[in-house]
Amino acid sequence: MNDSRDKSPTPGDETPYVEMPDVLKGRRQLAVDEKFCFGCHPGVSCFTDCCRDINILMTPVDVLRLSRRLGITTTEFLPKHTQMPVTKKLHLPVVMLKMGPEPEKRCEFVTEKGCGVYEDRPWSCRMYPIGSALPPARAGEETEPVHFLFEDDFCKGHAEKTEWSVESWKADQGLEHQEELEKGFHDIVSHPWFIGGQRQLDPKRMEMFYTACYDLDTFRRFILSTTFAERFELEDGLVEKLEKDDEELLRFAFRWLRFALFAEPTMKVTDAASKKATGGTMGSES
Ligand code: SF4
Ligand code: SF4
Repeated sequence: MNDSRDKSPTPGDETPYVEMPDVLKGRRQLAVDEKFCFGCHPGVSCFTDCCRDINILMTPVDVLRLSRRLGITTTEFLPKHTQMPVTKKLHLPVVMLKMGPEPEKRCEFVTEKGCGVYEDRPWSCRMYPIGSALPPARAGEETEPVHFLFEDDFCKGHAEKTEWSVESWKADQGLEHQEELEKGFHDIVSHPWFIGGQRQLDPKRMEMFYTACYDLDTFRRFILSTTFAERFELEDGLVEKLEKDDEELLRFAFRWLRFALFAEPTMKVTDAASKKATGGTMGSES
């Protein structure tokens, strides 16, 4: 198991931030090719100790994969297995994995043999001991994540001899496909619209973001059970793909959000719809 992370608030995850998250302050920053030693396996004395009382921010793909693994919808998964932190520093809603009850607050997925959802474990669990954050957007610049090394005393994995770089660790953890799939998500959370950290989405748009990114089954209903397909010019065959293909739907959700949140021309309204009122955002559909 190469899992788990940090007991501090907001562990290694790509957190959209206005200020550097407290948990990353003072951590050693890692250049992409910088080496560090680490190993996590059933032989370490701390095995699974870290799978409790931790804050794991969930990405859209994490929510999707875990809900599918458990055989439930994202709509069922979210209230059952996640919670939303309340902090003024975040400009978009985030969801965190819910821990089990006090006093241990163990992750509900940990077993004696390690992570019980290993193949579908969250992004943060794969990334540890690397932390990552997206700096604030700057005009005309593509935002690149900044990486840090967690060197926590409780984690004995740092005494192991295997040498890694950020890149080789990510490849070992199978993160490449997830990161490619979530590129559109990162483009939204680091969008230039947020430059300066002063602008806030209104509650309706916050809800759109939450639904499209995390509650994909509700988003699918929004696409398929409303007048959505009549109001936007969609590529041939796209609706059928969105009906069946979760990854296609997630990519589409990020594309739609850029239109709905920032008025980018990622979608085209049909002539018939443009003659009507400009409404028709999520939640006002019939
Ligand atoms: S999801 Fe798996 S790796 Fe992550 S905290 Fe829970 S048991 Fe540990
Ligand atoms: S080595 Fe670190 S990541 Fe692995 S189980 Fe121990 S505390 Fe967790």
